[in-house]
Amino acid sequence: MKLYLLDSNDAANFPPYRGITSELYGGGPDLRLMQELVLGIGGWRLLTALGIEPEVCHLNEGHAALAVLERARSFMQQTGQSFEVALAVTRAGNLFTTHTAVAAGFDRFAPALIEHCLGGYAHKQLGITLHDLLALGRRNSNDPAEDFNMAYLAIRGSGAVNGVSRLHGKVSRHLFEPLFPRWPADEVPVGHVTNGVHMPSWDSAAADDLWTEACGKDRWLGTTEALEQVIRRVSDARLWQFRTDASKSLVKYVRERLSRQLAASDASSEAVDEAMQLFDPNALTLGFARRFATYKRPNLLLHDPERLLRLLTNPERPVQLILAGKAHPADQAGQALIQQWTQFIRRSDVRPHAIFLSDYDMLLTEHLVQGVDVWLNTPRRPWKASGTSGMKVLVNGGINLSELDG
Ligand SMILES: *Cc1c(COP(=O)(O)O)cnc(C)c1O
Repeated sequence: MKLYLLDSNDAANFPPYRGITSELYGGGPDLRLMQELVLGIGGWRLLTALGIEPEVCHLNEGHAALAVLERARSFMQQTGQSFEVALAVTRAGNLFTTHTAVAAGFDRFAPALIEHCLGGYAHKQLGITLHDLLALGRRNSNDPAEDFNMAYLAIRGSGAVNGVSRLHGKVSRHLFEPLFPRWPADEVPVGHVTNGVHMPSWDSAAADDLWTEACGKDRWLGTTEALEQVIRRVSDARLWQFRTDASKSLVKYVRERLSRQLAASDASSEAVDEAMQLFDPNALTLGFARRFATYKRPNLLLHDPERLLRLLTNPERPVQLILAGKAHPADQAGQALIQQWTQFIRRSDVRPHAIFLSDYDMLLTEHLVQGVDVWLNTPRRPWKASGTSGMKVLVNGGINLSELDG
């Protein structure tokens, strides 16, 4: 597999365009649309320039949906056909995967912005009117006020559409029902393919050894039905040692990471030293790490703070809690959830038992999923399209405690 990254920061580009790809969540809708132009139209042109002629183009979320227009344009150029014919032919080779369970998750743009950025392209390159272009992203093509919805364009330009779990497939059929008026909801053509994680990327070296020792080199690469019996034959002592080692290395990692985080934020040297003593490798470790968004309810554990404190400080069965996450810069409610946690953790009776790690990224995930005992997932059903971090925990022998959601 090859991965090509598009970057507009090239000295040959018109200066205002050089910053288009500089920041994922920066700027307003106009920057966002320009990024999607680079991704969709630029992405397809890149493939053409490299002489790559894909049979199937997978649109992972609506952000790249403009690729269906560019693919049709390229077909028009090769065959001299109209846009209508070109889209009908090429759409058979496009596949759209939708990832959100709420309509607000779809990218939408004001008609004037579409006119500004794509009006000339529609007219000169696709040979269609602005009205026809807008209709591809609208529910009602005759409503001049309706925004242009990238997911609608992706659906209209794709031969097959899927959600990312069985429940999310059902939710998506409902979300896209308006595009299929008078169709029974069950027959709206949106299926599902459940998301998965790439196990070799997420299992620890020790977990990989254990799996290989018990199940041979094939481990979970083939069918998995027989694995349970094989894993049952591993001795309790071996499993316990494996998990104890994982806890120890996680505790060591979070101590170091927290003390670095504190040192960088000008905390006192006592606080930095205290961080190096934090946590007990023998206590049960709960983990909650993900993007902080209200539907994921990262503050559900704080519903009764005193009860949580009793769990954390139970003299016989103490529990320790690791939290990590980020909120979208524009998501004030998400930011407030993070603050709620940091305030709780600042209490002197809580501090030894709970930590919040900033800068959540894949490296931090990797450490957490390898050492946490119980992974928490508490979304508001059915808004979580497909949870994957819990899958990363399982291969390492942790437990996924989850709402029964996508
Ligand atoms: C796996 C992963 C996610 C997705 O986790 P969910 O459980 O689906 O919310 C998010 N961010 C990072 C860095 C990850 O590694």
